[in-house]
Amino acid sequence: MKDLRSMTMEELQSLIASWGEKPFRAAQLFDWLHGKRVKSIAEMTNLPAALRGRLEKDADLTTLRLHTCQVSKDGTRKYLFVLPDGERVESVYMPHDYGKSVCVSSQVGCRMGCRFCASTMDGLARNLFAGEMLEQIYRIEEDTGEKIDHVVVMGMGEPLDNLDNLLAFIRLLSHPRGRNLSQRHITVSTCGLVPQIRKLAAEKLAITLALSLHAAHDEARQRIMPVARRYSIAETLAACEDYFKITGRRVSYEYALVRGENDRETDARALAALLKGKKAHVNLIPVNPVSGRDFAPSEGDAVLRFQKILEKNGINATIRRKMGADIDGACGQLRRRLAE
Ligand code: SAH
Repeated sequence: MKDLRSMTMEELQSLIASWGEKPFRAAQLFDWLHGKRVKSIAEMTNLPAALRGRLEKDADLTTLRLHTCQVSKDGTRKYLFVLPDGERVESVYMPHDYGKSVCVSSQVGCRMGCRFCASTMDGLARNLFAGEMLEQIYRIEEDTGEKIDHVVVMGMGEPLDNLDNLLAFIRLLSHPRGRNLSQRHITVSTCGLVPQIRKLAAEKLAITLALSLHAAHDEARQRIMPVARRYSIAETLAACEDYFKITGRRVSYEYALVRGENDRETDARALAALLKGKKAHVNLIPVNPVSGRDFAPSEGDAVLRFQKILEKNGINATIRRKMGADIDGACGQLRRRLAE
């Protein structure tokens, strides 16, 4: 059965038409799902009882249940949600001075196997539907009473490994009748699935693409990211360049600094050479320690030196502020491990 909250306006319209209902019922339904964000079909009081009955019988309505919320001393909140089938996902709320952000999960687990990331340790359980991604935002807005300004798809999972659901999610989140979040305020991060980067570019959305690069040489990248054995850095960067050409949106490059592994001056120079002449922005993140993995973050000095070398070579680079590390809410630390 199809989940109503995962259906685009067009899909709702054809469902409603196929049931012989009046076309305006689709928009009413959409308003209940994404405007008022009801948790049950019974609450859709302006729909005729017969239509509500049919919806109850022939459709599902996904609602996430809030399991726990941990609050960090920096204001970051890590949410654990329970999905309708009992699976769990985590989402993170971050109050920045430039606005409120939510980091959304796109899969339960992940099958990409990046060595420094906790989300992939148990493999992939399943993809999330669009409604399950949206609900993370809806429930966080309900809980905090705040309006979210930015959404980053950087939680558990590889979003481009779940492309169709991701596209529906972006369309629904930016729909004028729904949450109406500007696509410019949505960032999707990928470990670098080249064919899917090209498919995403063809959709010509106004979202920002972030590539998790983490190394400037193929051998070094292959040591920490299995996906690098499938696609070379050259092929991956070519796809990102094309993404920029097709969409006009500058690509961000994520680089997690691991002490003694990829944080030397030669690494910084190699990265600068790789990105030279591209409309690139680099986000430097000292790797977050993850239990069961022995990667150590680069020291403060090394991080600053790395940034300086990039900037001297004309590459824009920012150091990502660590948020929520004390509640395991920082990048790469999300993992289902709470007891019932
Ligand atoms: N699968 C996607 C999005 C999820 S991870 C991707 O790979 O991009 C979001 C970002 O956090 C990625 O850049 C990822 O490489 C990074 N990350 C994962 N584990 C990390 C860790 N322990 N420390 C710092 N960054 C980490």
